[in-house]
Amino acid sequence: MTVSGSDPLALGQKLVSVLDDGLRTATYKLATLIALLDFAVENVPRNADAAVDVDLDDLAERVIAIYWRPVRDLDGHYLRQSSNRVARIPDAVRELKSLATTRTGSDPTLEFVRRFHPDPYRAAVVAVRETLVTQPLYRLQRVRGERSHECFLYDDTWLSDKVSGKQLAAHDNKISLFPGVCTTLARLSSLLRPALQIAWLDDVRRHNPFLQRDVPDLASHHFGADRISLERARGALADNFGQRCFYCGAATTHHVDHVLPWSRVGLDGLTNLVLSCSACNLNKSQLLPDPRIVLRALDRGQERLTEIADSISWPSQYERVESAARGLYSTQPAGTPLWIGRQSVDVIRADFAWPGAG
Ligand SMILES: [Zn+2]
Repeated sequence: MTVSGSDPLALGQKLVSVLDDGLRTATYKLATLIALLDFAVENVPRNADAAVDVDLDDLAERVIAIYWRPVRDLDGHYLRQSSNRVARIPDAVRELKSLATTRTGSDPTLEFVRRFHPDPYRAAVVAVRETLVTQPLYRLQRVRGERSHECFLYDDTWLSDKVSGKQLAAHDNKISLFPGVCTTLARLSSLLRPALQIAWLDDVRRHNPFLQRDVPDLASHHFGADRISLERARGALADNFGQRCFYCGAATTHHVDHVLPWSRVGLDGLTNLVLSCSACNLNKSQLLPDPRIVLRALDRGQERLTEIADSISWPSQYERVESAARGLYSTQPAGTPLWIGRQSVDVIRADFAWPGAG
């Protein structure tokens, strides 16, 4: 079967077959796919059928961010993300994290490490990139036991388990998503993310037999928003934008809420955060908000948000939030519910276009 990049069903089936491969030795393929979905949402091309280049350093940084939470201890255990003793990607991320932890004494944010430990951060990006090209990116489109394989996401014929720096440079440190694939991945993102996460947790249980007995909250350990760290953002938001609920104006704010839902795009930069009352937070849940709400969050100003974020060593992610909003809204099917406020829900209409710039 030849897969067209702009056929969501065919591409989705191919990706699900990656999930079905119950013999994965590490969670890398799943992390790489999640990183590609995030990338796709933020990089939907103007021409839906265009090919899109993925910079491998960008991809490596996304994978580091994805492992940032899972590599911390759970009940005193460093969870295995691989059936091998040595797991290069999580090990590199954990080492990077522990370097900053010993100096600050607390669980550091990735942004803090990126800013104040640029050299070790850079070294980790290089190590992760090297592993990505020789392992998950090389193997992602291959089904075990099959001699030949069909590339359906990007050309992988130049990849191998020994890609040299020279070969990478010859390819501009990029892989290129085939025409239409980026848009299709963005369209599939909300569907596939939860499935990839479930497969990931299954793998972790398999690699860590003790988890079968204890069953701690593995999902929030891996993919939950970091509530403790988010507390740092709360004070900064209250000081600069007031104590009121961003959505309804109520004076009680108990939550730091992700405007673009955390479950859809893993963006916890300050631009995507607002204070919210419990009622709005609960009611909005995982719904996409009306785009005007996102515009209002952006209207707080790139410069101001970046300045505030800097002051607490937090990422602002202004541009990423803006691109993700454009990508998310422009790829949702007509009929997708939009949260307007606690009283009302609208739907995306067929002629919908993201109203913002970017
Ligand atoms: Zn409210």
